Amino acid sequence: MIDTVYIEEEIWDHSRTREVCARFPKARFIPCERYGEIFNRKAQNFRLQKNRPALILAKKYGHFILETPKGYGIGGERNFYFSHMLNCIYDCRYCFLQGMFRSANYVFYVNYEDFQQAIEAKIAEAPSAESYFFSGYDCDSLALDSVTKFTESFLPFFERHSNAWLELRTKSVQVQSLLRRDPIPNCVVAFSFTPSEISDVLEHKVPKVSHRIGAMEKLQERGWRLGLRFDPLIYHEDYKAQYERLFREIFLSLKVESLHSVSLGPFRLPKPWYENMYRLYPDEKLFAGPLGEHRGMISYPVEIEQEMLGFVRERLLDYTPQSLLYPCIPRNDPVVSILKK
Ligand code: SF4
Repeated sequence: MIDTVYIEEEIWDHSRTREVCARFPKARFIPCERYGEIFNRKAQNFRLQKNRPALILAKKYGHFILETPKGYGIGGERNFYFSHMLNCIYDCRYCFLQGMFRSANYVFYVNYEDFQQAIEAKIAEAPSAESYFFSGYDCDSLALDSVTKFTESFLPFFERHSNAWLELRTKSVQVQSLLRRDPIPNCVVAFSFTPSEISDVLEHKVPKVSHRIGAMEKLQERGWRLGLRFDPLIYHEDYKAQYERLFREIFLSLKVESLHSVSLGPFRLPKPWYENMYRLYPDEKLFAGPLGEHRGMISYPVEIEQEMLGFVRERLLDYTPQSLLYPCIPRNDPVVSILKK
């Protein structure tokens, strides 16, 4: 799968570097000074690179933990995100990473201990409050877990910090590392979904909806707290029937008691990222959809957005209590009122 591994000279001998390299014995290992020379190089083609991405092993300096935008969260007041990886093995046509990054190569930061120190510092700022840490913003939290051993390192860490929550966000079915151990009460394993009809067309290389539900069922049996993420909501003229079918399928297998939270959010992209994505896939039907610019973001027209959010929220309330539902929308956005009704 990986045939080229770039390694920053500074972490060439790091134990995590050695472990990762041992998994790709046939790869070429190429030293580099800083990962940005490879990752941020100009004139790269994300689409071409996606066919054969290289792995870049790097050390992160600073900015380990960032605040989430106001209005995003799953019940906590203190919300942060962090990224042990950049990019993802899947290839969703709506994924903002392809608009945000120049390169499709995977960057993996091996210095977990520095991330953990930064998380501890955030927790220490408000020790009596609950803090939420989201791990799947710039990558899929679990898809490469067998290589990165992310959960093996971070679950015991969060187990020691019961006033901090970890969200693993994923479309992967790589849940073996979780099934092998006891659940921790302050971890939410959150799975993202669009309806099967949309997923089959737009979510390339992603496990089928039914397989993801199967993985959730296994985690449920082991007692893990689960999350459902319907973000972004993707419009299709038949979207109502598609989302109804999806919810029926999910809630046939999942018990509400296993759910920590259910969140939903509209399809939105900053205009420059959208333009980058359009350049990569000019024939993509998603980008021919009823999209327009509103306040520097590309989204569906307000009436479609409101109708979708309202409909999806109502159908979710057939299965889950309102207390579990969280909109992922900036706090001052007018559509928030639809979701808070
Ligand atoms: S699974 Fe998430 S991170 Fe990966 S390509 Fe799809 S949207 Fe992007």
